[in-house]
Amino acid sequence: MSEQRRAIVVGAGIGGLAAAIGLRRVGWDVVVYEQTVAPRPVGAGISLWSNARRALAWLGVDDAVGAHGVTRPGGGVRTSSGRWLSDSVGGNLLTSEEVSLVMVHRADLHAALLAALPAEVVRFDSAVEKIEESATEVTVRLVAPNASRTATADVLVAADGVWSGCRSQLWPSAFRPRYAGFTAWRGVTDGSFPLATQSQTMGPAAEFGLVQLLDGRVYWFATGNDPEGARTSDERDEVLARFGSWHSPIRAVIEATSPAAVLRHDIYRLTRPYPSFVCDRVVLLGDAAHAMLPNLGQGGCLALEDAVTLAHALDSSADVPSGLRAYDAARRPRTQTVAAMSDQTAKLAQLRHPLLTTLRAAAIRATPASVVIKTLRRATDWHPPS
Ligand SMILES: Cc1cc2nc3c(=O)[nH]c(=O)nc-3n(C[C@H](O)[C@H](O)[C@H](O)COP(=O)(O)OP(=O)(O)OC[C@H]3O[C@@H](n4cnc5c(N)ncnc54)[C@H](O)[C@@H]3O)c2cc1C
Repeated sequence: MSEQRRAIVVGAGIGGLAAAIGLRRVGWDVVVYEQTVAPRPVGAGISLWSNARRALAWLGVDDAVGAHGVTRPGGGVRTSSGRWLSDSVGGNLLTSEEVSLVMVHRADLHAALLAALPAEVVRFDSAVEKIEESATEVTVRLVAPNASRTATADVLVAADGVWSGCRSQLWPSAFRPRYAGFTAWRGVTDGSFPLATQSQTMGPAAEFGLVQLLDGRVYWFATGNDPEGARTSDERDEVLARFGSWHSPIRAVIEATSPAAVLRHDIYRLTRPYPSFVCDRVVLLGDAAHAMLPNLGQGGCLALEDAVTLAHALDSSADVPSGLRAYDAARRPRTQTVAAMSDQTAKLAQLRHPLLTTLRAAAIRATPASVVIKTLRRATDWHPPS
């Protein structure tokens, strides 16, 4: 496509910012509209698997993010009393070229993506309200401070998250977020907290993860099978009550996190099979397209893959509709596969019955690290187009 094309991106999350970087890289003129008044400080860690690192390298922001990452051997699965069920996966993983993992603070990832865009590209305090499509362009109505106005482009990238308003307008009944049956707490210690080893600890209908960040702080996450919408007045107290008697240093890590820094989110996923990610000139990307369970740590990684694939498909196709079709054909099977794998992992993690948790422990003990790595290789097996 020779003449300069224009794209509107809705949402300045990981997916929207990456899409803007990718489209600009192939010569598009891009504006990102974000409803929040300023970049939101996002207070948790995020795993960037090798597929995400490859996408970030293609986007040209790998160094900026890698500088904040930690590649630290060690770690595995434990019981709540601290007994190791498997302690070899972490070391093997992190020495594998194909399946590696870097853990960064989300705020650092967002900052690196934002810094890769000229300031005028991302317009905060601008909510996209209504979309209208014609055969050749797409127009949005924006609600911005003191004004409501319209903007027009060749393509609209809907990267507005699991509760995507763009999706519900154009695909009114095709996608449906469904509560997964569990809630997740996340936190980062206020200051440095050296960990002897990282771990994922499994109990009945609950798990607790400990990961060291490069700056010395600890990122932790916990889950519980709770009714949708349940909340307490102090979520840190709630986490302490549930996990404070688990093995060391879980209690100390929770206590080293300010109550205000503890996040709680109910977990939702979109049901599969996904219908098309494309409706004329509007394309879904990231959680808006394929929100999945967080158990493999792949939702954000796949949003980065989406961004690269979209930019490449639009750049290498004769026209916009065929570029969008190529994106859809590439992304739906891949995201569906990883979402199904995440569902399986979540099912195991959230088992409640004592007999089933005993069987799970035996299965984890009996599974060689090579088998786990083979599964992870499948999840991370994506390479950017050359
Ligand atoms: C507990 C938990 C742990 C996770 N851990 C990991 C992990 O370790 N690794 C990983 O890869 N993934 C992880 N994920 C998944 C990851 O967080 C998501 O997949 C990722 O953040 C999705 O990014 P996104 O840009 O698609 O959507 P979002 O981050 O939801 O961004 C959407 C943006 O759109 C904006 N928006 C919405 N509507 C409008 C509108 N009308 N107009 C303008 N702007 C709008 C929103 O304000 C928001 O900024 C985890 C998820 C959870 C819940």
